[in-house]
Amino acid sequence: MFDPEVISLSKLDPRAPLVLDTRELGRRPGSQREVSRSVPAPADLGIEVLHVPEGSSVDLDLRLEAVMEGVLVTGTARAALEGECVRCLGPIADEIEVDLQELYVYDDLDTDPDEDDEVSTLQDDLVDLEPLLRDAVVLALPFQPLCQPDCPGLCVECGARLADDPDHGHEAPVDPRWAALAELQQDDPNT
Ligand SMILES: [Zn+2]
Ligand SMILES: [Zn+2]
Repeated sequence: MFDPEVISLSKLDPRAPLVLDTRELGRRPGSQREVSRSVPAPADLGIEVLHVPEGSSVDLDLRLEAVMEGVLVTGTARAALEGECVRCLGPIADEIEVDLQELYVYDDLDTDPDEDDEVSTLQDDLVDLEPLLRDAVVLALPFQPLCQPDCPGLCVECGARLADDPDHGHEAPVDPRWAALAELQQDDPNT
């Protein structure tokens, strides 16, 4: 049966930073290899408000283990995070460490294609680690990142960042008519 998805798959480059070469394992179940490397982060790794800066280093500590049907990849990835607090819009600088685990099945095994569409496959005994890394990072990120767990957010009156000024307060609400007048005076270059 014609499967456009398979046809359109580009060949993996064994020298690409997020491609792992398993040929050394010789498809012998039980043989394993440790891989430690730092790779530049691909673009858009994370979510809009919190992500790994593109090109910053992602430290991978992985074990590749040949099993009967493919290669099991387990390990961790560590990276820096950059983002914006959803309450006060202040910058967030953090780190993330995620666990990685995925079985990559040999692509030439005689398996029933309808059995499991979600299975990851090796391509010419190469592993494309990027989808696994993306999923793991996105799953580990909070949907609503905060600069600190109890971030007080912004002052509803004036928009000041309350974390910088905990005793912040206003005597009385500013009358919008006076505020407009004050702005006019500030804008006038003759005063
Ligand atoms: Zn905040
Ligand atoms: Zn205020």
